[in-house]
Formats: sequence, structure tokens, C-alpha cells
Amino acid sequence: MENIFAGRMQGVPRSFIREILQVSLDPTVISFAGGLPNPAFFPVRELQRATERVFEKHGAGVLQYSNSEGDIALREQISARYLAKQGIVIPAKNIIVTNGSQQGIDLLGKVLLNDGDRVLIEEPGYLGTIQSLSLFKVQFLPVPVSDEGMDILTLEKVSYGSGAKMLYTVPTFQNPSGITYSNENREKVAAIAKLNKFIVVEDDPYGELRFSGQPAKSFFHYLPDQTVLLGSFSKVVAPGFRLGWIAAPAWICEKLIIAKQAADLHTSSFSQKILNDFLQENDLDDHVEKITDAYGTQCRAMQDALVRHFPKSISYTHPEGGMFLWGRLPEGMDSMELFKEAVKENVVFVPGDPFYTNRTNTSALRLNFSCVDPETVEEGVKRMARALEKFGKYF
Ligand code: PMP
Repeated sequence: MENIFAGRMQGVPRSFIREILQVSLDPTVISFAGGLPNPAFFPVRELQRATERVFEKHGAGVLQYSNSEGDIALREQISARYLAKQGIVIPAKNIIVTNGSQQGIDLLGKVLLNDGDRVLIEEPGYLGTIQSLSLFKVQFLPVPVSDEGMDILTLEKVSYGSGAKMLYTVPTFQNPSGITYSNENREKVAAIAKLNKFIVVEDDPYGELRFSGQPAKSFFHYLPDQTVLLGSFSKVVAPGFRLGWIAAPAWICEKLIIAKQAADLHTSSFSQKILNDFLQENDLDDHVEKITDAYGTQCRAMQDALVRHFPKSISYTHPEGGMFLWGRLPEGMDSMELFKEAVKENVVFVPGDPFYTNRTNTSALRLNFSCVDPETVEEGVKRMARALEKFGKYF
């Protein structure tokens, strides 16, 4: 019966992170592996009150089927926040509410990508996108990123004449590396997108979680007609709601709506009403500030511990926000081998491999700091340092 599966499933692995989550359920294991927002900041009581108000206001109506684009009041709030926070005008009619931004990635795949189509993607890149778009049997064209952003020369070379339809990027506090593209870098990427006629998909679930530095400009500033924005309430409210959105030019929205209808008719209208009420009755800025203060403290604790306990030849990124930092081991050292030793020391992280489209045995690793307090960070880094001792020949 094995051969009943569709060709599109071939070679698409299970998410490595979901697998690691199993290991980290053991309470004696310190996990730098997850990508989870800290549940201490889920606004439980506020959401409970919002739910009660929604039932009082709407009664049974809130449990009925609804429209595919999403709740208009919620879309208007998203639109208003784009203007207030980023100074960009995205009308509510160009916003479609999705089941997390993850669904936005899938819908884009459905409306844009044929078998064999080329997709430009930052490297390392978000593994959920690599997995999602792999189902459309695309050919990835990876473009390396460094502390400043995308490698412009490679992007020029790889995209020219490639026929690529889209570039996928997380330009602010990137998952997995934590880096942010500079404005100059974004401007150059946008110019290449214009010249070579591909869409820039800016996935921005972490942008509001800035704990230092100055905000960078959305690609929408440079390329309004060719930018698709993915957004999410997962990191600023709660991921269990599965509420995100896709903001796109009208000609793309038309097709996205068809794909959304076909996928699930609409995102839970009940959840949307609760979230909308929560946003109206509470100050999201205050809430986000609490989260970013904690993440900033945890990130600094991790950076300090790494300096204290790790060999000097390991380098790290210096995120100004988000939930991750990225370490680079000495050339030739395989982070998957380090992972196996780290598990023995009861600490886990994500080895670099799943963030690459076509590379294995990479010498990079992702460390998550959103769910660990400074003391736990210190202990976890010490455990990792013990695991590193087994690789003395590289240091
Ligand atoms: N994009 C990126 C870059 C992510 O890191 C994540 C979640 N970890 C997602 C999209 C998906 O988020 P959600 O579906 O919860 O909005």
C-alpha cells in the first residue's frame, strides 16, 4: 500500500522541531530548541473576559459560518496597526485572516507555484517554509544571509534569468538567525526584485519584539506593488489561537481567497471575534513591552553565558529582538554530532541542517531564549559547554 501516496509527499520530512519537542517534554532537559513564545505572557484572564463579552454581544451568531476574508473589525485593526507602527497604508480589503501565518505560506504556494518552479529563499531559512513549499515540488534557490542582510551579489546572480516568482524572507529578527536586514540591504533587494520581476514575501512574526536598536522599514516601503506581507498574533498574543494574516495587492488577494475557501472555508470566526475584542479592550503595546523586556533580559543572559563558557572560536549573531540567536561552530564541525552529545547532558538546541534546503552536516545551530529564565540559561549553556569538550580537536 506504500505506493498510494502522492508524489508531492516524497522526500518531505517531518518537522525536526516537532520531533525535538518530544525530548524537551522531559522536565530534567533544558531546551533551547523550541520556537515557542513564553506562556507566562499569554493573557489568560483578559482572553477569558473577552470571550464572555463576545458571547454577551453576539450570542449564537458568533458560532455561525462566516466570510472567508475574515472579520472586518479585526482586519481594520490590523490595517490601523500597520499605519501606527510602520507608517504603511494597507487597507483592510487587502488583508485576509489565516490560520496562523503558516497557512499564508501554504496559500501562496497554492496560487503561485507549479512543479519545478523556482523560489528564492534566504539561507539559513525558516524550516516551516522549506517544508510547506517542498510539497509544491519547487526548486529552491538559496541566498545566504549575514549580519547585514541578504548577500546582494548572490541574489543578483541567482535571480537573474531564473524566472523565480517569489523570494521568501524574514527580514526582521529572522528565524533561525535572529539577524535583521539593514534598510540599505532591503532597498537593494527590492531593486533586484523590481528588475527581475519577482514578489517579495516578507514574513514578519517577530518584528514587534524589538528589545534594542532602531526599527527597519518594511519591504512595502520600497516595493508596494510586489510585496506580500505575512503577519501573526502567535508571538504577541498566543499561538494557540492560530490567527495570522496575509496582506497582498488586490490581484493576488483575489486568487488567495479562492485558495482559502477551498482549504477551510474560513478561519474560526469565534476566535477572531475574541481576539478583536481583546485588542479593543486592552493595550497591545503594553503587553508587547512586557514580552520584549523579558526576552531582552533572557537574550543578554544567553550572550553573556556564551562568552563565559564557550570556546572563543564559536561566533554568534547579536539579535536586537525576536526569540533566537545563531551560533557558528568551527569549520567542519557537525552540529548534529554536538546535538547527540548535548542530549546526553540534558540540554537541547536545533542543529543547523533543517534550515538549509540542500545541505547537511552544517556547523551552525539555533538557540532559543524566549522560554528560559536567566538562571536556566546559565545552567543550559554550562551543559552545552560540557558537550563541547568532546570536540576538543576543533578548538
Ligand atoms: N513564519 C516564521 C518565520 C515562524 O517562525 C513561524 C512560527 N514559528 C511562522 C511563520 C508560523 O507562525 P504562525 O502560523 O503561528 O503564525
